Amino acid sequence: MPDKMRAVQLFAPGRVSCELIDIPAITNPKNLIIKVQACGVCGSDIPRVMSKGAYRYPIVIGHEFAGEVVEAGPDVKTAKKGDRVTAMPLVNCKECDFCKIGQAVACDNYDYYGSRIDGAMAEYIEVSEENIVHIPDSVSYYEAAMADPVSVALHAVRKANVEAGQTVVVFGLGAIGFIAVQWLKNLGCHKVIAVDIIDEKLELAEKLGADLCLNGAKCDAVKSIMEYTDGRGADAAIELAGSTFTQVQAIDSVRKLGTVVFCGIAYNDLMLPNKTLGKILRGELNIKGSWNSSIAPLPINEWKSALMFVETGKIKLKDLITHVVRLEDCQDAFEMMYHKKEMFTKVIFDPNKK
Ligand SMILES: [Zn+2]
Ligand SMILES: [Zn+2]
Repeated sequence: MPDKMRAVQLFAPGRVSCELIDIPAITNPKNLIIKVQACGVCGSDIPRVMSKGAYRYPIVIGHEFAGEVVEAGPDVKTAKKGDRVTAMPLVNCKECDFCKIGQAVACDNYDYYGSRIDGAMAEYIEVSEENIVHIPDSVSYYEAAMADPVSVALHAVRKANVEAGQTVVVFGLGAIGFIAVQWLKNLGCHKVIAVDIIDEKLELAEKLGADLCLNGAKCDAVKSIMEYTDGRGADAAIELAGSTFTQVQAIDSVRKLGTVVFCGIAYNDLMLPNKTLGKILRGELNIKGSWNSSIAPLPINEWKSALMFVETGKIKLKDLITHVVRLEDCQDAFEMMYHKKEMFTKVIFDPNKK
């Protein structure tokens, strides 16, 4: 194995470049070294790289990845050299009260690949055995690198507690939105409504199973949803755009006793109109937050379910990958995404791409 590797490092907000750095060594007997074959860009990476910054510098960014085990620490029991794996990016402390009840997403003291500790936009990454999930043979590395958004979408959809025959709205068609549409259909929703402001994305949502696609810039989405549901409102809404506009619309579009799941990362304060607040309390709405995903074994390991549904073709990802770039292209790629110079859904960094 060589001793240097290429890695996309962030030095300060807006200062990202591909550098030659040391290949990580195993620092814990329960860790492994993965040769990264694909690393996707998360919606959260764009502000992290371009404006908000990370928790320390320099840091190798990237947390949606898949690759091959090239070295396993002496105490690793569940994986060996040559295994194809992906990994949950949240490294929980296992000691706080929330970890003790199996709620790693609420951990008080966690690490995170690509924002708190070195990530995967590189040729190699060191990961903890507890975080890895094996990839089925027929799932490609590009698809497996999307196990994170597939799991995050499942986590949010599960919060909506959907029942067979229900109608659910998805606000915001990023990768997670497109995947949420597919989960909702797979889990028995009768009607799935997708709302976005780009027609091209709405066309893809329809292809992936959405029953009604609404361009929120061209119509009153709440009014259309009310008409579509005979004036009652949807059973649940999942907000993934993170915009104050769709956050209010999500609440306004559900029926009494309905559920609203907030999952899109928000960057602005939200002021609720009095009418909307009245709807929450008089309608006894369930307002829920959803963050990240879970690899706890029961009742389901969301990552394993994610890979099963990708393997069987029930969750389709290929159309979501709009760009494959080299590590060396990082500056241009992040500028393209930040300034929305091109239409994109999932941008994959492929360390092998020449
Ligand atoms: Zn992410
Ligand atoms: Zn913890």
